[in-house]
Amino acid sequence: MSKLIDNFGRQINYVRLAVTDRCNLRCQYCMPAHGIDIVPRKELLTFKEMYRLIRVLTELGVNKIRLTGGEPFVRKDFVGFLEMLSFNDLLEDINITTNGALIYNHIETLEKLKKVKNINLSIDSLKADRFNEITRRNVFDEVYKTMEALEKSNMNLKLNVVVQSGINTDEINDFVRLTKDKNIAVRFIEEMPFNGKGQREMQENWTFKKILNEIKKEFSVEEIQSEKSSTSRNFSIENYVGSVGIIPAFTRTICNDCNRIRITSTGTFKNCLFDDGVFNLRDFIRNGASNDDLKELFLSLIKEKPENGFIAEANRTKGNVSESMSTIGG
Ligand code: SF4
Repeated sequence: MSKLIDNFGRQINYVRLAVTDRCNLRCQYCMPAHGIDIVPRKELLTFKEMYRLIRVLTELGVNKIRLTGGEPFVRKDFVGFLEMLSFNDLLEDINITTNGALIYNHIETLEKLKKVKNINLSIDSLKADRFNEITRRNVFDEVYKTMEALEKSNMNLKLNVVVQSGINTDEINDFVRLTKDKNIAVRFIEEMPFNGKGQREMQENWTFKKILNEIKKEFSVEEIQSEKSSTSRNFSIENYVGSVGIIPAFTRTICNDCNRIRITSTGTFKNCLFDDGVFNLRDFIRNGASNDDLKELFLSLIKEKPENGFIAEANRTKGNVSESMSTIGG
């Protein structure tokens, strides 16, 4: 079987698929209060099209998928799509990144889908007022209830916390404390100076190192050996049930082991988080491409994968990176 191996010898086994561009929250760092322009429905890939693209990718060695958005649970019958994906025998792990505001009632169903193993919940504050202010929606109680239910479920729970200078850095160690009794992996994401959407100026740069130093002020942490392609560097604290990680999203120190590609909700293929999309898969399949055509295409696109995120960013033609911070955290 042909495998997706790029020019730097990295084998791709992981695809991140955005199932929608819509979101039910309006996070300050992600979009303006009135929302962003959403694309017409017919421009979104259908679930059938997504299923097909993923099936072809799994025949080329992909065995893990992460579903993101927008917010994936905003898309009608997303749970049905998860059931559909579960029938792909070549897929081992189905992971989801969510803001948690719409999933409480689906947790039991998710638990039954054995391939749904990891849920990443985006939560940037443990203070109700602050959380509601950041998200511009009054959903903290719902998200917190969901977090507790997920922690007790048979799925692994990771919290993605975007560290935002001047907003929530005083809560870094509150999040760490959560891991004392809860089986949660808290992961702090370096804030990227994201550009173009009218966000505030960053007062300080909360890099990997600075976040780690903040944690070390209160806790004695020990680094855990992480999987080679892990997006975070992870740490344990003696007698704590959960763990803590930091994702160097901005400093991009993880590219050597990159194993991932992305497909946007409109079918744009991305070799790297920082590229601006290298091919429109939706039009390709709507124009009648066969599965063999798709395979050939994927094998050639992967040869264009940039060595790292800096090179991908330098090659952009369409301006700044616009992916939602909340979906960056693996
Ligand atoms: S920045 Fe690009 S190359 Fe680096 S790990 Fe992320 S997706 Fe992979």
